[in-house]
Amino acid sequence: MKVLVINCGSSSLKFQLIDSVSEEVIAKGLCERIGIDGSQLVYTPQGGDKIKTQAPMPDHTEAVRMVLDALVNPKTGVIKDLSEIDAVGHRIVHGGEKFTASTLINEDVIKAIEECSDLAPLHNPANLIGIRSCQKLMPGVPMVAVFDTAFHQTMPEEAYLYGLPYSYYEKYKIRRYGFHGTSHAFVSKHAAEYLGKKYEDLKIIVCHLGNGASVSAVKNGKCVDTSMGLTPLEGLIMGTRSGDLDPAILDFIGKKEHKNLDEIMTVLNKESGVYGLSNNLSSDFRDLEDGYVDHNPNAVRAMNAFCYRVAKIVGGYVAAMNGVDAICFTAGIGENSGFVRSLICEHFGYLGVTIDEEANKKRGEDMTISTPDSKVKVLVIPTNEELAIARDTVALVTK
Ligand code: AMP
Repeated sequence: MKVLVINCGSSSLKFQLIDSVSEEVIAKGLCERIGIDGSQLVYTPQGGDKIKTQAPMPDHTEAVRMVLDALVNPKTGVIKDLSEIDAVGHRIVHGGEKFTASTLINEDVIKAIEECSDLAPLHNPANLIGIRSCQKLMPGVPMVAVFDTAFHQTMPEEAYLYGLPYSYYEKYKIRRYGFHGTSHAFVSKHAAEYLGKKYEDLKIIVCHLGNGASVSAVKNGKCVDTSMGLTPLEGLIMGTRSGDLDPAILDFIGKKEHKNLDEIMTVLNKESGVYGLSNNLSSDFRDLEDGYVDHNPNAVRAMNAFCYRVAKIVGGYVAAMNGVDAICFTAGIGENSGFVRSLICEHFGYLGVTIDEEANKKRGEDMTISTPDSKVKVLVIPTNEELAIARDTVALVTK
């Protein structure tokens, strides 16, 4: 089967066309600046060069139309006819408490996703536009919704409730949901396969460290805790997001800096994290790594705070699961930076973890970076959210 995986943001659309048998990416790309001047499609067919096409994309339907045209283009396309696309998998950011797994899209599902828009006002409406656009241009093709939050729905009440009046949970569903669920599920399952052990017998901690970053605890194949909350702002110190804070800081900053709540939220989402901590040096860990090596105090401060926070949350999850068999690193930083992995693992001596520094120099492949005598295995498992979405899509449409 050929599955088109769509990930719609408010002004962007990422896609991959995946052959479900070989699991190869036949074509992939990105539409940028949808609804804004200067929109363009960047399209890469398998084995080919990037092709950039600048053209007005007033809305997502036009963006999907351009993607489909590129896929069937006689010169650079990868399929002859749109009928070769057997199914579409859509990444949906928030499934609230309604969706505990991926699901075939019908009108009831669309309505339920709409009802969750309150919880992800920037993302769910864009995801829905993506679904509607595909329905319009590919009528009759089965579509599947894959939720970022679904994998975390197995968290127990004590992990997902905030210490707030319970009526807020009852009235507004204010609770911890967690994100990056597709990645946490993919990586934890694949780690079990890699170790040759049964998923249901393992305690696994996944550190998804990218521009957005989160940690999850997966016990016997089920997520029991994760570091993001009602929104993706909670938890780790991230590229530009603050992560956990004393909530009273909001009031304090508001008074000192004469900022309203919207302005403070912009600071917490866009001007904080390692970017803010490094005095605006960079949110990119390649720059911070270079700065750290040069003893730049801004880089050292940000890097150390980032790694300490990861280690602290991992420690909490070891306690939550009463042990851990494997700690996995994934996403942009987790897969590529042996430097960051090494700094984080310095905190894991109490777990009997020793890092094989030679093995840790490699990047971007499944590998063990702990020494054979290490009590807890430390792994690098590259994530592949698009493949996970394609697999779920195939499973549901062929059921
Ligand atoms: P992601 O959000 O998963 O795409 O991750 C993006 C982030 O990964 C970038 O902002 C960088 O901080 C980080 N990154 C990518 N490549 C490297 C690398 N070779 N070394 C360190 N960090 C990297």
